Amino acid sequence: MTDPFGRKITYLRVSVTDRCDLRCIYCMAEDMTFLPRAEVLSLEELERLCGAFVRHGVRKIRLTGGEPLVRRNVISLVAGLGRLVAEGSLDELTLTTNGSQLARHADGLAAAGLRRINVSLDSLDPDRFAAITRRGRLDQVLAGIMAAKAAGLTVKINTVALRGVNEDEFDTLVGWCGAHGFDLCLIETMPMGEVSAARIDQYLPLSLVRSRLERRWRLTDCDWRSGGPARYADIAETGRRIGFITPMTDNFCHSCNRVRVTCTGTLHTCLGQEDAVDLRAPLRASEADHRLDAAIAEAIAAKPKGHDFVIGAGSRPALARHMNVTGG
Ligand code: SAM
Repeated sequence: MTDPFGRKITYLRVSVTDRCDLRCIYCMAEDMTFLPRAEVLSLEELERLCGAFVRHGVRKIRLTGGEPLVRRNVISLVAGLGRLVAEGSLDELTLTTNGSQLARHADGLAAAGLRRINVSLDSLDPDRFAAITRRGRLDQVLAGIMAAKAAGLTVKINTVALRGVNEDEFDTLVGWCGAHGFDLCLIETMPMGEVSAARIDQYLPLSLVRSRLERRWRLTDCDWRSGGPARYADIAETGRRIGFITPMTDNFCHSCNRVRVTCTGTLHTCLGQEDAVDLRAPLRASEADHRLDAAIAEAIAAKPKGHDFVIGAGSRPALARHMNVTGG
């Protein structure tokens, strides 16, 4: 699949549920209304949808949410997609999780064919972690991370940089990830959905974070890519990598290779635009995939050039939908 700007679309991110057991302050409002279950695709339908994208040239799939591990039987979807990896039609299957349910799922995920996992972790301080997630328990997440490591999964830690919230912890996180053999990826907060805090108060440019980190760590840019938008540097002292995802300070849309599908089968060809194509109707209209294939092709042919996120004093969110719907 090639879009109108010549970009090859090889990466699909699938939100398997909009539900989550946490309410991170930058991601969701305290009081969220989730989708009625009847609107959500079954796991079999999600697998069929993924299969269609793979036929169209997708080589990497990330399962996300909401919290993918709160969806019942999600391991069966992982196993189905893991088979595509085993037979060579997919290069990589990964999953992004908040880690709360990981301790009990780590072995099952590894057995189902998962090799890499991203765990979101915004603080190593239990009280601060509870405040950021509004209801999470750090010890539970750390146990999940260690279970994933013990199961042989390659773990990457994702941290959203939040001004005045966790900006004093990045040195600690770099050291902790180094000690445990994890790469770390820092993310700028994006203006998606109304949350209780003002985005301008949360926003911390990673250019500033990086220059502060460089007082303590020797960072050397490297060419390594994980298939997503992160740009990586090697950390001489730990031997690990640090990634920077900078949707705000450095728009990376020119190299975008991604599209996203929600748990209701809505295709968003850009994280930062309102464009949306319904794939559920063509999926359900027929057991054959010709309508689905046509809908996918039509959507890719209209993929927007890029997002135009702006965070400013008094600005409204760039998008009404929260990250848990589209899948982060
Ligand atoms: N529940 C899973 C988790 O916590 O990783 C998967 C879904 S979550 C929406 C995926 C990632 O998006 C997390 O790393 C989260 O921190 C990030 N995220 C959520 N809202 C964001 C926002 N407004 N800006 C930047 N990153 C955000």
